[in-house]
Amino acid sequence: MNWLQSECVILKEKPFKEKDRLVTFLAKDKGRLTGIAKSAKVLTGRGVGAFEPFTRGTIHYLEKSGSDLVTIRKCDPTPPFLMLHHNYEQFLFASYFTELVVLCPISPADAPVFYDLLTHGLDRLAAGDEDFRVVRLRFEMDFLTCLGVQPRWGRCAQCGKTLYQKSGGGYRLLQGAPHKFDLKRGVLCPACPGHGSGVFVVSPQVMEFVGVWLDPHQTDSGPPMAGVLAQLEAVVSAQVMAHLERVPRSMALLPDPADIL
Ligand SMILES: [Zn+2]
Repeated sequence: MNWLQSECVILKEKPFKEKDRLVTFLAKDKGRLTGIAKSAKVLTGRGVGAFEPFTRGTIHYLEKSGSDLVTIRKCDPTPPFLMLHHNYEQFLFASYFTELVVLCPISPADAPVFYDLLTHGLDRLAAGDEDFRVVRLRFEMDFLTCLGVQPRWGRCAQCGKTLYQKSGGGYRLLQGAPHKFDLKRGVLCPACPGHGSGVFVVSPQVMEFVGVWLDPHQTDSGPPMAGVLAQLEAVVSAQVMAHLERVPRSMALLPDPADIL
């Protein structure tokens, strides 16, 4: 038998039949796979904990021709272990990150990029030294980039006008007036019209923050002000929902952007 092994993150699992577990994982070199872990429901030397969501490790599995399900022999967990029992909020955000990875299409070629996205996001939650809302915002923005649907923030989607000027310290916003974000089109400059559902007004402070945040040479821009964070959360979460064409179940449990204004 040709056992395969891969670095993985466990995305979800549930009991299956009498003794088994049905486990969905993200394999770094393959993408998202679901398989049956035999006898994993019984507490044995193999350990149930190895298949708990957010666990990272090396998974050993077998592909079967004619079946979407793989057979999982074991998962050897590797640190860091996300100690989620102590922090419910951390658990909610981690659940949201993994649900996004469950809901989106992932080709084998894109698998390493999504693997890095997820492990990086979980690492930042595990470190616990940042506002989880900021970690979420960064995760969602990077998620949109991984999906290839990150809008071009630097140009008006209607007239094509450049919105920022490159300066020594990053990108400087050219017009200090409210811009708009249209879910269907992208960013609109102050002069171009945009209204109706799916159009958000974004303050110049939000635009300035994005200009700094999306500058690849800017490594530490500092966290956004509360008002900027709330506006960006609303815009970026709406983009995520629009591209997934659904509301992730775990999203409803996260703090509402309006609560932090
Ligand atoms: Zn315009």
